Amino acid sequence: MARKIGSRYTAHQILGRGSAGTVWLGEGPEGPVAIKLLREDLASDQELVSRFVQERTALLGLEHPHVVSVRDLVVDGNDLALVMDLVRGTDLRTRLDRERRLAPEAAVAVVADVADGLAAAHAAGVVHRDVKPENVLLDMQGPLGPGGSHPALLTDFGVAKLIDTPRRTRATKIIGTPDYLAPEIVEGLPPRAAVDIYALATVLYELLAGFTPFGGGHPGAVLRRHVTETVVPLPGIPDELWQLLVQCLAKAPASRLRASELSARLRELLPMLAGMAPLDVDEPDAGHEEDAPEEAPASSEPSGEPVRRRGAVPLVPGAKPADSNRDTHTSMRVPAPDELAGGARGTARAPRAAGAPRPGSARNRATARRRRIAVGAGAVALVAAIGVGSWLATGGDEDGTAPDDTRNSAPAAP
Ligand code: ADP
Ligand code: MG
Repeated sequence: MARKIGSRYTAHQILGRGSAGTVWLGEGPEGPVAIKLLREDLASDQELVSRFVQERTALLGLEHPHVVSVRDLVVDGNDLALVMDLVRGTDLRTRLDRERRLAPEAAVAVVADVADGLAAAHAAGVVHRDVKPENVLLDMQGPLGPGGSHPALLTDFGVAKLIDTPRRTRATKIIGTPDYLAPEIVEGLPPRAAVDIYALATVLYELLAGFTPFGGGHPGAVLRRHVTETVVPLPGIPDELWQLLVQCLAKAPASRLRASELSARLRELLPMLAGMAPLDVDEPDAGHEEDAPEEAPASSEPSGEPVRRRGAVPLVPGAKPADSNRDTHTSMRVPAPDELAGGARGTARAPRAAGAPRPGSARNRATARRRRIAVGAGAVALVAAIGVGSWLATGGDEDGTAPDDTRNSAPAAP
């Protein structure tokens, strides 16, 4: 069924659902478009709506072959919609789920495209702030590039910024997706262009390895790893590629490459990577119990949840694997220094040596395939609300009863 969006657009059918709303295939005066209709609770938020309008120019200004352009913003009655270029294809998360790991050439080609899009954005003074596979669309109608990759386009520019209003987040909350959050954000510094480089390097690592370098388990533990842990080398990765990854995952933002430089360096590597098979990397939790005798046993968590290292597991027992929370932004308190130093309950451990077996247990294996983070308020030591939805629902901006005020030192009783 068709649905009118403002006076100029008609939405025909649902292309996909995301955390911020539903994306429709639509028609406008200039042809087919994608229309992201924001969730009702977001659309009915007056402050968000006025910000939406204020940001209009910044959002509409970006034009680049590797950026999904926003064509129009529609505020119409209860509807709040972003009209975008239609990309016929799929998103990078879907491809990664299907293939588990990409061949280095394909991974590098995709990431170089995204780096090009970021370079254009950064030159225009726009920081994306939510670079992750879900926000990379693959244009299946575009020409096949190196490694059989279709052109990649970065989408959702400005959305994190819109949602991250000062009133909502004050100075003490973090917006982003835990696995991809740069350490300086965890430490409470304002997000600059280098946070996108860190996130994109995390995506590259994930495309190569099948898992992110610091993800898995409790979101608070993920945040701490960004600040304190070094990245574990991937077996079989060409050294030049590894050096690029390490540089862009540097804790110090100034040490990371700029987007244009990253893209150029990645493209230089493409010929060398041609024909190389996907890396043969262990799943994070597919290790053997006897390999990690010094580690906390798998059942040592007070909650009864196994301690997991970069595991692809829901935190709450029984949380459904298809939980979409991972695709959403995260709002959480900035951890205190003692928490970052290891005070938070979780999984801080020394990084493994290259090639050493991963700690973990057979018990974890079944659920390890995809990392989905789900947090129940009762199980939370450090974090607060995951996802804009739950965060808005709790009133997110006020002190008091919202779960985000739970202090680390006092884990909530079950
Ligand atoms: P959110 O960021 O709110 O979670 P997404 O932007 O990821 O939502 O959109 C959800 C789904 O809609 C995507 O996975 C994709 O399948 C589809 N989609 C989003 N933007 C476009 C677009 N410009 N063209 C085609 N499909 C799109
Ligand atoms: Mg998105």
